[in-house]
Amino acid sequence: MAADRSEQPLERMEDLVSLCVRRGYIFPSSEIYGGINGFWDYGPLGVELKNNLKSRWWQRVVRERDDVEGLDSSIISHPRTWEASGHVDHFSDPMVDCRACKRRFRADQLEDAGPCPSREGSAEHDFTEPRHFNLMLKTWIGASEDAAAVAYLRAETCQPIFTGFKRIREVARQKIPFGIAQIGKAFRNEINPRNFTFRSREFEQAELEYFCHPSEREKWFAHWLDERVRFHREIGIAERSLRTRPHEPDELAHYAKQAVDIEFRFPFGWQEIEGVHDRGDWDLSRHGEYAGKDLGVTDPETKEHFVPVVVETSVGIDRTCLALLCDAYAVESLEGGETRTVLRLHPALAPVSAAILPLSKKLAEPARALHRELQRRWNVFYDDAGNIGRRYRRQDEAGTPFCITYDFDSPQDDRVTVRERDSMTQERVALDAVSSYLRERVEDA
Ligand code: ATP
Repeated sequence: MAADRSEQPLERMEDLVSLCVRRGYIFPSSEIYGGINGFWDYGPLGVELKNNLKSRWWQRVVRERDDVEGLDSSIISHPRTWEASGHVDHFSDPMVDCRACKRRFRADQLEDAGPCPSREGSAEHDFTEPRHFNLMLKTWIGASEDAAAVAYLRAETCQPIFTGFKRIREVARQKIPFGIAQIGKAFRNEINPRNFTFRSREFEQAELEYFCHPSEREKWFAHWLDERVRFHREIGIAERSLRTRPHEPDELAHYAKQAVDIEFRFPFGWQEIEGVHDRGDWDLSRHGEYAGKDLGVTDPETKEHFVPVVVETSVGIDRTCLALLCDAYAVESLEGGETRTVLRLHPALAPVSAAILPLSKKLAEPARALHRELQRRWNVFYDDAGNIGRRYRRQDEAGTPFCITYDFDSPQDDRVTVRERDSMTQERVALDAVSSYLRERVEDA
């Protein structure tokens, strides 16, 4: 950044929320009905950011590896799945109700409850004793709403990976160690959805379950933790905003040997965006027991029969998008007292790779031809209306890394001006070199 510019990072979530809603990145679901708590819609810019993040994850975790296979399972599984996994009995948070205002809170987050609006003579809530509240969302299959037809929307994407383990291993002809990965929606009836998309009731996870021999669990745990931290750095999250936090022994699930959270520093504090867990052989053993099937494997050389141990990496797509937006947001003071809001998103993740901005509508025809050419490869935006400074600002706010201006010299010299978002420097680039210019800076970045 030039010496005469100073910059303010994001301090208040409201500023980011307002930008996201105003620009249609992310906005309340069913907005015209007043929204629905814990559900969010991703607009034209948001869906591109999310898709770019998911495809980079898929590329790194699945496609680049010979030892990982992909899956896209159904959201609703056989209800026994959730009995075997322990969710029906144990996937709950302690909650309390206020007898006066009738609102419900998580018993371990009462500091966020605020004053009671309904009690006379006191602002304190009148809480009930804590009770356990199951977080799984229920639905009914078929015409009758009796207990036999109850099913659950999945609370995590990994369970179908365990139930599909045997078939996928066989069809993919994989040997241990190998992994199965899936990206998809998960649902939790969170008591207090909050902090924008951070805690939602419907969200997306990208999960990898890596199956290995028990003697190699530590090696693979270290491997995947390292890979995942590297991924977050690669997508542009600043070093100072990322840390790892090993779980204390009393935080570990009873079957887990080791767990580390990857945390991001949000304006509301350090919070988990991804968990790396050693789940032991809990899942395969339980599903084996409940389904009455042997989910163990036999080592072709030693003939040892064993149930593989699972190292899991589980990242929230929505939480990572939110982290990317928080990290990218800055308000910059420019010379002359002007300010600009900019999203410094990594060029490969930015929703729009480049904007084509002809200086005048009279130049629309050749500018549109360039737009069409680049559109075959990238998400490129075309805008020929209004003042060029204002058009640049709109793109800065959307996080577009490059603005390409077609001006009155362009028809003569076959060059365009490319303005880079962060430095705001401009350079002339030959029209026939624009594609390679973008490929280098967007795809290969
Ligand atoms: P938390 O303690 O914050 O509720 P968790 O430990 O229950 O999270 P996991 O079950 O390990 O989370 O899920 C893995 C990832 O899924 C989390 O790191 C997070 O990114 C994402 N995730 C979990 N719950 C939610 C939610 N309610 N909204 C958005 N993302 C979520």
